[in-house]
Amino acid sequence: MEEIIIAYGEYNNGKLHPASLEILTPLYDIAERLGKKLVLLLLTEDFERAQSLPELKKALCHYVWIVSAPELKDYRDDLYSEVIIELSKREMPYGVFFPATFQGMSLAPRIAGALQVGLCAHVNDLKLEGDNLLMFRPTYGDNIIASLYSTTIPIMATLSLGAFVIKENPFSPQISKYEMPPEFKWQSKMKIRKSKPLIKEPSRLSVAKIVLAGGMGLKTKENLALLRELAKVLRAEVGVTRPLCHAGWAKEEEMIGVSGVSVRPKLYIGFGISGAIQHTLGMENSEFIIAVNTDKEAPLVKMAHLSLICDAGELIKSLLKQLSRESN
Ligand SMILES: Cc1cc2nc3c(=O)[nH]c(=O)nc-3n(C[C@H](O)[C@H](O)[C@H](O)COP(=O)(O)OP(=O)(O)OC[C@H]3O[C@@H](n4cnc5c(N)ncnc54)[C@H](O)[C@@H]3O)c2cc1C
Repeated sequence: MEEIIIAYGEYNNGKLHPASLEILTPLYDIAERLGKKLVLLLLTEDFERAQSLPELKKALCHYVWIVSAPELKDYRDDLYSEVIIELSKREMPYGVFFPATFQGMSLAPRIAGALQVGLCAHVNDLKLEGDNLLMFRPTYGDNIIASLYSTTIPIMATLSLGAFVIKENPFSPQISKYEMPPEFKWQSKMKIRKSKPLIKEPSRLSVAKIVLAGGMGLKTKENLALLRELAKVLRAEVGVTRPLCHAGWAKEEEMIGVSGVSVRPKLYIGFGISGAIQHTLGMENSEFIIAVNTDKEAPLVKMAHLSLICDAGELIKSLLKQLSRESN
């Protein structure tokens, strides 16, 4: 009992959400240190297709369990959570963890409620201290980092997107079909009338090598558009601070920070960004940080490896001019 740790793998239309692989990195380490086995759990209607996913052969876990039934064809919160509740009651895992994707954020509280255990949301680090598994998450308006531990088993948490780097398994995990008990009721109160796959490209921000981030110091939407142009030339991805999303200049998925994406590029350049903790928590692991700001006292200027004290918009314009001259 409590010999396994379960990590939920979000699997849709033949694709595994990369965040499912990210959460394996800290969980595998914890499983190894506790002498437990890490199981990546997938739910699908098509066992054959799921088991042949190339990512599974390198997934950093001991086992991959695939629950497969025709009723699992479309994602439905109630049925998917019932499967995991039943499986958790039978297997008595030490922990059940989810990536903080839309599915993870919907399933985890339903399951925690049914199992009557605690749930820690948006964890961005995990650490073993004695017998306690400490879970770190931003709290109080994201101004401090709380370390929490669960007094109930299974320990349950959702883990923030982009907080962990995917690592490959040198050995292939054992992949098998997990059989639900014959009396399990494959019922759902939800009826799917129509389902359409998302057409939009998945964001590359969390895995980008170069990130150009824009803040309120850009002053205008036009300057943000120029930053996007510069990013194209430099083959970089664009990230922003929260006020730019609130202003409607950028999409929520471009927000870097505790409420958005975590990035760890080789080069991060912050244009007109003050460096509030809610933002820096999402970029502090960048290898080299450049701050562009008119205020030399700005927190990002102080944490940067290199700071340029100047107008962000003007700098972007002259960089674009210079780069276009060089390419001609
Ligand atoms: C619960 C909560 C969660 C949050 N989550 C996030 C989050 O995930 N991500 C996030 O980013 N924020 C988040 N925030 C908001 C965060 O606290 C800050 O308000 C935000 O990061 C500030 O954005 P900014 O640096 O673009 O703007 P500002 O703080 O307004 O800073 C603008 C900077 O630009 C500089 N500047 C001004 N003019 C120029 C110029 N011409 N050229 C160059 N520099 C110039 C200024 O000196 C200043 O340093 C959160 C806040 C709360 C309360």
